[in-house]
Amino acid sequence: MKKKDNQQPTTNNQRFETNAIRNQLDRTQYLEHSSPMFLTSSYVFEDAEDMRASFAEEKERNIYSRYSNPNTSEFVEKICRMEGAEAGFAFASGMAAVFSTFAALLDSGDHILSARSVFGSTHSLYTNFFPKWNIKTSFFEVDDLEGLESKIQLNTKIIYAESPTNPGVDVLDLEFIGQVAKKHNLIFIVDNCFASPYLQQPIQFGADLVIHSGTKLMDGQGRVLAGITVGNSALVEKIYRFSRITGPALSPFNAWVLSKSLETLAIRVERHCKNALQLAQFLEGHGKINWVKYPFLKSHPNYEMAKKQMKAGGCVVAFEVKGGLEAGRKFFDSIKLLSLSANLGDSRSIVTHPASTTHSKLSEEERSRVGITDGMVRVSVGLEHIDDIIADVKQALEEMK
Ligand SMILES: *Cc1c(COP(=O)(O)O)cnc(C)c1O
Repeated sequence: MKKKDNQQPTTNNQRFETNAIRNQLDRTQYLEHSSPMFLTSSYVFEDAEDMRASFAEEKERNIYSRYSNPNTSEFVEKICRMEGAEAGFAFASGMAAVFSTFAALLDSGDHILSARSVFGSTHSLYTNFFPKWNIKTSFFEVDDLEGLESKIQLNTKIIYAESPTNPGVDVLDLEFIGQVAKKHNLIFIVDNCFASPYLQQPIQFGADLVIHSGTKLMDGQGRVLAGITVGNSALVEKIYRFSRITGPALSPFNAWVLSKSLETLAIRVERHCKNALQLAQFLEGHGKINWVKYPFLKSHPNYEMAKKQMKAGGCVVAFEVKGGLEAGRKFFDSIKLLSLSANLGDSRSIVTHPASTTHSKLSEEERSRVGITDGMVRVSVGLEHIDDIIADVKQALEEMK
């Protein structure tokens, strides 16, 4: 949760970059310039009365780092300001945030209405785990929002979406979904990981809660796992109550790393997007690919929506090589500079083959329904010089028959 009393004053009219840098913990007796790390599992009390009052929550203070820690609070406070959220809770990973958010808000018999195209592990929660607690999920298509309302059931409690989606970088009309959710009194949750808070703030478009994997653009250097949920304070309170008991809290060390990373989020994400757009433009004219998708390419089916919702197109470019699986393999084996890895939002560019990795748990039919073909490649465009990124992709495409 937010711990407002612990922060140095920043005024509300400060911009994104200034908040990211100047919104930090109060200085200690050592007058450090940059926030120190608080690697402590618990905190001490003055006397019996102080301890009683603290446990009774008559005081807002740190008791035990499963509940809160100064470094975690600093990280949460920064993200709340970036997203325009009232409160938040930070988790050990993005999936801990996704799971704990659902688990805290849903009861047996409830129903989730989710976009079909979501992160692979989120999809596995719907199909492999939630049914055993009698929580059912049905899906709406990212290109058929007209049909959204008709899929709401009497027991629907949550509408869930990602935009841009993984790995197909589809862009959803968040404002439209937000209006439908509001009309039917449903909780609208957006996984904003692909955009980062710098490019898009879903609460503006009607989201009640925003989830991030801090592992991606927030850290941005492939070092730590983290997750966070921010938004409406009454909902966050439920998530906090659940999480302080079940223990998925972010480690103070990782929170400290992330707060440092956020200081450079704006400048990093800007360069990611610039590089990604240039790679997408290079691929668009290439004879060995069938299609390329990037939210800020004019050829993207939701280009206008992307322009309205996002400051820039993000770090992920999706494309399909000609020649299917065989050609795709050859392309991967010919890559020299870029990393073959499953992560994204890293300073190092990464190529992934969703069909055989992140989305291999889906059936072939499920894959094709979310637009994942055998020849599809996802590039998370990093911060290397764009000429070197393009040169590597170019030579690998030339190696294909
Ligand atoms: C990576 C990712 C997650 C899960 O985050 P972890 O930190 O890996 O647990 C959730 N949603 C999206 C869109 C992601 O890219």
